[in-house]
Amino acid sequence: MDTNMGLKVSSSKTAATSDAEQISKLRASQSPIAISVNRCPTWSSLDPLKFKGYWNNDSHGVLLNTGQTAYFTFDSATRPILSGGPLIGEYIFEQMHFHWSVDDFTGCEHVLDGHGYAAECHLVHYNSKYESMEAAVANPDGLAVVGFLLEAVDAPNPSFDWFVEALDQIKKQDNAVQLPSASLAWMDRAEVTTGSYVTYKGSLTTPPYTECVTWIIYEKPVQIGSEQLGLLRQLEGVDKTPIERNVRPTQRHPPGHSVIYVKQVKAKL
Ligand SMILES: [Zn+2]
Repeated sequence: MDTNMGLKVSSSKTAATSDAEQISKLRASQSPIAISVNRCPTWSSLDPLKFKGYWNNDSHGVLLNTGQTAYFTFDSATRPILSGGPLIGEYIFEQMHFHWSVDDFTGCEHVLDGHGYAAECHLVHYNSKYESMEAAVANPDGLAVVGFLLEAVDAPNPSFDWFVEALDQIKKQDNAVQLPSASLAWMDRAEVTTGSYVTYKGSLTTPPYTECVTWIIYEKPVQIGSEQLGLLRQLEGVDKTPIERNVRPTQRHPPGHSVIYVKQVKAKL
């Protein structure tokens, strides 16, 4: 992960834009990858990430058992918008889904400093300059995926209650249930605007593994009750047996590949 961009000391608005431009030009790798956070260059001059319209509105979404994962989409025309951080322009929320495995330590796709977690949640967005998700995937700046690592702990996390009750109703493939946008409020923590994350150019972790993704993986995991998380493992797949594992193994970093560690600084008002 050698890089000649390790020494960034700028902090002005224009610097933030050019930082995002530099990230957009990084070499892409296949995803997921294992990341040694302390070996990544640290940047703190990027704009904070902005999550607009995810959980604090009247819209509804649908949680579906696709046979591969639990898959959430909004059923309204207005979609949440992600901007800031390493992104140039606005990215439109398309869907959210989960990866998990048989135990509480191998269910995440990205591995930070060798630490495995129970699951990983992906928020998939496409660049608003393209007409659709399908059109965006054909471009290196097509998608932005936010990854939350989920850490299983003893006590249930009440902010997942809505979601967990929904999982209970979609055990069979193709079952779906409606959820209000407020069910996404488990993401609504100070962490999304002030927490550190790693970012790199990578790929989809499911076929066709296209290298069209700007990844944003938060360093600090979100805690979820072990029993709550267990409901993901009860979802039935195509063969009508529980989906045990839907994680792609970590991929090799290509030569000259960089991952940037971003320390978010509170927005200046
Ligand atoms: Zn995913």
